[in-house]
Amino acid sequence: MDKQLPIHIDLLDKGFIELQDIMGDDNAIVAAARVSFLGESKGDIQDRKLIDYLLRNRHTSPFEQVVFKFRVKCPLFVARQWMRHRTWHLNEISRRYTSEALDFHFPDDWRLQSSNNKQCSEGSAESVIQQQFNQQTQSIVDTALQTYEQMVEAGIAREQARMILPQNMYTTFIGSVDLHNLLHFLALRREHHAQHEIRVYADAIYENFVKPFLPWTAEAAEKYLFS
Ligand SMILES: Cc1cc2nc3c(=O)[nH]c(=O)nc-3n(C[C@H](O)[C@H](O)[C@H](O)COP(=O)(O)OP(=O)(O)OC[C@H]3O[C@@H](n4cnc5c(N)ncnc54)[C@H](O)[C@@H]3O)c2cc1C
Repeated sequence: MDKQLPIHIDLLDKGFIELQDIMGDDNAIVAAARVSFLGESKGDIQDRKLIDYLLRNRHTSPFEQVVFKFRVKCPLFVARQWMRHRTWHLNEISRRYTSEALDFHFPDDWRLQSSNNKQCSEGSAESVIQQQFNQQTQSIVDTALQTYEQMVEAGIAREQARMILPQNMYTTFIGSVDLHNLLHFLALRREHHAQHEIRVYADAIYENFVKPFLPWTAEAAEKYLFS
């Protein structure tokens, strides 16, 4: 697939994921695996089988030869989950430096607490409840933002004023990761126990960037990692 980069995908109400760069493809994995015995490509059928073999048997290092770089805009509570993945290399906007471009996430749907899983949600609240909490959330964000702006105006340090901004505030970061660790991230964050909002990002990475750029790896990952 031709690289027409960056590829920008809007997500949630004001977020996005952008593929900024990608190094390598399925052929790079095959080449890395075959360097062990100074071999080369043996044609599509054999090369595709080799990728299947490598993932099935967890010969993971050839997948580390492929590297992705993303720019991500997501709510703070999604970034906090994302940044638990220590194998990513990250740089994030600093609210010590800037008080510009503050955006907040407002969900389309308030989900209900799952009755049988303490960390999950299920179904949607009734529309009257949705309206009530949409209004209350808007009011809290307005108050927090107004107070933050007053603090900055009064000369309070940005590094301290930011503490009153809520968790639905968006943040932006650049993240790079190799394919082996990206597949691990996707296996954990596309799974049904992962929170809906981070799943939106993980699914977008998989559908828009992994599947089209690495179709043989995606095929094997669906069999051995995502099942
Ligand atoms: C559905 C879900 C619910 C979660 N709930 C919670 C929660 O309630 N509380 C909470 O604190 N976290 C929670 N987490 C986060 C989880 O515990 C992991 O921190 C996160 O998923 C990152 O996984 P990882 O460590 O495998 O990934 P990475 O940090 O990307 O690491 C990838 C792999 O590298 C290896 N590795 C990396 N660093 C080290 C190291 N220093 N030492 C040894 N091996 C290392 C490990 O094999 C690891 O699996 C949750 C995650 C998910 C998906």
